[in-house]
Amino acid sequence: MKYYMPTIILEEDDIVLKSEDIFRSLGKKALIVSGRTSAKKCGALDDVIKVFADLGIEYKVFDKVLENPSIIQCVDGANYIDDCDFVVGIGGGSPMDTAKGIAVLLKHGTEDYMAKLFGETDYDALPVIAIPTTSGTGSEVTPYSIFTDDEVQNKRSMARRIFPIYAMLDVKYFMTMPVAVRNSTVIDAFTHAVESFINTKSTPYSEIFSLKAIEIFAKYKDELLKEKIDKDIFKEFVRASTYAGVAISQTGTSLPHTLGYPLTYYYSVPHGIANAIFMVEYFKISPKAIVSRLLDILRFERIEEFAVFMNKIVGAYVDELDVSEEEMEKFSELLLQNKKKLKNHPLDVTKEDVLELYRRSLGK
Ligand code: NAP
Ligand code: FE
Repeated sequence: MKYYMPTIILEEDDIVLKSEDIFRSLGKKALIVSGRTSAKKCGALDDVIKVFADLGIEYKVFDKVLENPSIIQCVDGANYIDDCDFVVGIGGGSPMDTAKGIAVLLKHGTEDYMAKLFGETDYDALPVIAIPTTSGTGSEVTPYSIFTDDEVQNKRSMARRIFPIYAMLDVKYFMTMPVAVRNSTVIDAFTHAVESFINTKSTPYSEIFSLKAIEIFAKYKDELLKEKIDKDIFKEFVRASTYAGVAISQTGTSLPHTLGYPLTYYYSVPHGIANAIFMVEYFKISPKAIVSRLLDILRFERIEEFAVFMNKIVGAYVDELDVSEEEMEKFSELLLQNKKKLKNHPLDVTKEDVLELYRRSLGK
């Protein structure tokens, strides 16, 4: 059994402004990686820039990362600056994942970038600081980076495993999320915790983190049905997201993530919702004893009650979808080809099981 978590987690109000010593120790020139507007809107970008100005750290801001980023964005980001000492990723999973890919290419050059990011080599990266602004992916503490790959017409994980050296969490950055982003990301964290728990790679160490995240979700899940969530409760969701990130950093995710990627690729379903759509049927094909323990923690007596709750979160998205039988066959095949993911699930699944899971989850 192994537990490896090299990321230093700092959670505190104004943590960026209080971290001058850390930024100073990393060098004199940095690349800041963000999405188009949210890093500015939530205040995180201004905080980082203020610290850099105080310390005389030179920087450039690559604020072009799109949702579900493509691989080429890593190349564009690395070409955006001649050289630098470290990379700061501010945002949801999309900018944080891209910051990791850029950090690899900044260290090793952009030529032959596919081999460097996805090949069987062992490239390291410039130091990455991750500042999350969504409460979902846990990318600030995971070694994973997920990119959209038009070659394979799906999402795929970068082969290089890059843990950020610091994760800086400040709840004020999360308060500007629109409700749809908030719910999709909170539910993404929930799916991480569950998929890590129902996982052949789960260990007593990873379990502590997944169970804690699930308990927080259980306690506050009805808050997701409200427009506004108090800052103190939000702090709990932020922590749940990081706990769930620590859990998957040890185990990886499982079937719902792989089932959901094509819905994001072909139908632009937000990442967290795409996983959550499959949760109820995933429970049904998971070991009964584990599922009954989970339902207990979630405070649902029966799976039908869980289904009613999940429908409040994902129902509107499912209603919009019209996925054909042919597509579901194609998506099922993609899961069956992903032997690594299948291995994470404790029970065998056949193609018919997966197809039926798609049909039931998508209301066919
Ligand atoms: P995201 O794609 O990073 O961002 C979604 C949207 O939310 C964007 O429009 C973004 O705006 C906005 N936003 C972010 N923070 C905000 C804030 N504080 N206030 C207002 N708007 C805000 O969303 P995400 O769900 O966090 O990340 C999804 C990506 O992460 C997917 O590619 C997924 O595959 C990946 N992922 C990675 C891991 C991992 O372990 N590395 C795990 C799960 C998922 P801007 O564009 O302006 O920033
Ligand atoms: Fe996820």
